[in-house]
Amino acid sequence: MLEKVNYAEIVHRCFRCGYCKFPSDYSEINCPSYAKYRFETYFSGGRMWLIRAWMNNEIEWSEHLGEIMYSCSTCRNCVERCVFKFNEQVVDVFIAARSDMVERGQVPKKVGEFFSNLAKFGNPWGYAAKRLEWVGRDYTKNEFLLHAGCVAAYDDRAKKSLKALLKLLDVAGVDYGVFSDEICEGNEAVIMGEFGLFEQLMEQNRKRFEEKGVKKVLTPDPHAFNAFRNYYGLDVVHHTQFLWNLVNNGELKVGRVEGKLTYHDPCFLGRWNGVYEEPRKLLSRIGSFYENAKKPQRFLLLRGRERKFLHRLPWW
Ligand code: SF4
Ligand code: SF4
Repeated sequence: MLEKVNYAEIVHRCFRCGYCKFPSDYSEINCPSYAKYRFETYFSGGRMWLIRAWMNNEIEWSEHLGEIMYSCSTCRNCVERCVFKFNEQVVDVFIAARSDMVERGQVPKKVGEFFSNLAKFGNPWGYAAKRLEWVGRDYTKNEFLLHAGCVAAYDDRAKKSLKALLKLLDVAGVDYGVFSDEICEGNEAVIMGEFGLFEQLMEQNRKRFEEKGVKKVLTPDPHAFNAFRNYYGLDVVHHTQFLWNLVNNGELKVGRVEGKLTYHDPCFLGRWNGVYEEPRKLLSRIGSFYENAKKPQRFLLLRGRERKFLHRLPWW
């Protein structure tokens, strides 16, 4: 759960060898923050070195140091690639250091705004509530609560895929409802080290889930999937898993589409939760699927190609 790793025990063990910038075949840069900034400070090794210096009072906190700390997207490529025993804790180190900065009130301005919007409005951008009113299907003891997540609720492109999902659920006769005034589940509050804010969001969500009798959650949002599964301890299913089950059981009939299909693993579905198979099975059923990487987890959805979706994260 939300246990803060003791990073003083770990940071000095990093050799800054740089293996963790790459995928398993070293064919390209696979650390998104390093790929963007191209400076050693922005990959795990450099960031650990800075944390160590900050921790030992060799450098003072500055807006720039804060931005470097928050440049890590927590994609976990470095966790997979680091060859040392502490590898599982590399990202936890960054989260813990951010958390200590939050506790001291030392966060970049944009990060502060992000937190304040989440606290006041339940989304990172300060948009209006009633974000799912247009669905017109309020949760009333349905089998599933459909939790859209902040991006699908507000981003026009993501909204299109949410609408397509709702159509498929309707065709398959799935019993679901939404909270028209849904709020963020808080996954980003965790990875940005604002554990207090996360607890607040979790309490608000849990209270409503209990009052309304929510037992199962269905979500297209990998970040929400991660938080519901690992921090809330809820029975949650990602829509790719759900659709694959429907198709595989014959409850949803699908045709074939022309052309080749491929898939980029969202970090919070793949690396954080090990869900790789169902999206591929689903795509293989509906078209000619090809794998664009030797190992699925090698690839990064968040490498900036879909940067628009990173607007959940303030430093991108
Ligand atoms: S985190 Fe691991 S792989 Fe990355 S620089 Fe440090 S020791 Fe090397
Ligand atoms: S978690 Fe991802 S973005 Fe962060 S340092 Fe590791 S590889 Fe880079």
